[in-house]
Amino acid sequence: MDIELSLEDAAFRDEVRAFLRDNLPPAVKAGAAATPSVFVEPEIGQTWNAVLHQKGWLGYQWPAEHGGTGWTPLRRYLFEKECAAAGAPNLTVLGLKLLAPVLWTFGNEAQKATYLPRILSGEDYWCQGFSEPGAGSDLASLATRAVRQGDHYVVSGSKIWTTHAHHANRMFTLVRTDASGRKQAGISFLLIDLDSPGVSVRPILTNAGDHEVNQVFLEDVVVSAANLVGEEGQGWTIAKFLLENERGGSCHAPKLAYDLDQIEAGARGQEGGEGICLAEQVDWRRRVARARLGVDALDMIELRIVSEIARGHKPGPQTSLTKLLASNLRQEIDLLAVDLYGFAGLQLETSRPLYGPEAPEPVHSAGAQVASARYLNSRAWTIFGGTNEVQSTIIARSVLGL
Ligand SMILES: Cc1cc2nc3c(=O)[nH]c(=O)nc-3n(C[C@H](O)[C@H](O)[C@H](O)COP(=O)(O)OP(=O)(O)OC[C@H]3O[C@@H](n4cnc5c(N)ncnc54)[C@H](O)[C@@H]3O)c2cc1C
Repeated sequence: MDIELSLEDAAFRDEVRAFLRDNLPPAVKAGAAATPSVFVEPEIGQTWNAVLHQKGWLGYQWPAEHGGTGWTPLRRYLFEKECAAAGAPNLTVLGLKLLAPVLWTFGNEAQKATYLPRILSGEDYWCQGFSEPGAGSDLASLATRAVRQGDHYVVSGSKIWTTHAHHANRMFTLVRTDASGRKQAGISFLLIDLDSPGVSVRPILTNAGDHEVNQVFLEDVVVSAANLVGEEGQGWTIAKFLLENERGGSCHAPKLAYDLDQIEAGARGQEGGEGICLAEQVDWRRRVARARLGVDALDMIELRIVSEIARGHKPGPQTSLTKLLASNLRQEIDLLAVDLYGFAGLQLETSRPLYGPEAPEPVHSAGAQVASARYLNSRAWTIFGGTNEVQSTIIARSVLGL
C-alpha cells in the first residue's frame, strides 16, 4: 500500500532503500530466503545485526537516550517496509524488541547500563523463559520457584518451547516468588545467566526437522537478586507489557506482501510451460487475491496503530488483532507456496543445509527448497505469543467489550 509521505520522510525512505541496496550482504539475504522460520540462525541474524549496529540503526525502535535511533513511528514503519522489500532477515527480536523495552521501562539504572549496550553489540543473546510444561495459555499457573536467600534467589523448575535457548547466553524468565495469594501476584521477572551451574538445555525437534525450540531445566540455580527486574511480584504486569510488544512490536504486513509478491512471480514464471499455468487458473487467482486483500487490510490496521502511537497512545490489545490476522495470513501464504511448487515443494531435505556455503542457491524467498519446511514451521504462528483462541478472547473482552 502506498501512503503519501512528506518530502523529509520520502528522503528518509530513499536513504534506507539505498543503504539496503549497498549493505545487505548477499549471503545474509540468501540465508533469510532459505530460513523456514521467523527466527534466522545466529550466523545470519548476528551478521545483519552487526551491519545495522555499525550504521546506528539496530535500535530502530529504541529511544535515542538508550542508544537507539529515536525515529518516529512512521519512520520505523518505513524502515521495516524497506527491509522486507529488500529481503533482509527478521531481526532477532528477543533481546532487541522484547527485553529492551522492559529494561528501559521497569529496570534500574544498573540493569539498563549493563544490558542495553550488550543487546546492541550482540554480546548477549537472549531467550524467553515464560512457558512451562504446565503453563502455556494459562501462563499465570507457572511453577518455577525462586526462593530468596540473602542477596540471591535459588531457582528450580523447567521452561519449555524456549526458542534459541541453545544459542543464548541469557534468559529472561517469569518465576514464582510467592505461592500464597492470587497466582498472578506471586510472579517475578528474573534475568538468568545460562552459564550458571544447574542450567541444562534439551533440544526439541519440530515436525519440519528444525532445532529451534528447547526445554530448559533449572536445578537449584543461584541468581543474584540484582537480576530481579522491577519489584518482587511485579512479573505479571511486566509480562503483559512484554507480550503486547511480542504480538505487535513490528508490522507484519510488509513481510507478508513481499512473500506474496515472490509467489505471484513464481506462478507467472510457469507461463510458457505445458498445460495451464497456475497464474491463469481462476481458483489460484482467487486465493492470491484473497490473501492480497488480507495483507492490505492488515497493512491499514498496522498503519492506524502506527499513527496512534505517533499521537502518544499505546497499541494495547489491538496487537492481538494484528497477531491473529498475521498468523492466519502467514499460513495461507505458505500454503500457496506449497501448491505453487507442487512435488518440488513437498521435498523436505533436512539432510541438506538450507544456508551456509554448501546450501543450494535459493531462487527467491518461499522458493521450492524451503516451501514445505516453511509451511510446517508456520503452524507455530497460531500458537506462539499466545494462541489464536487466546487472542480472540482478548479481542472479545478488551477491544469489543463483550
Ligand atoms: C515454535 C514455538 C516457539 C515458542 N517459543 C517460546 C519461547 O521462546 N518462550 C516461551 O516462553 N514460550 C514459547 N512458546 C510457547 C507458546 O507461548 C505456547 O505454546 C502457547 O502460549 C500455548 O501454550 P501451550 O503450548 O501450553 O498450549 P495450551 O495452553 O495447552 O493450549 C492447548 C490448546 O487449548 C486452547 N486453549 C487453552 N486455553 C484456552 C482458553 N482459555 N480458551 C480457549 N482455548 C484455549 C489453545 O488455544 C490451544 O489450542 C513457543 C511455542 C512455539 C510453538
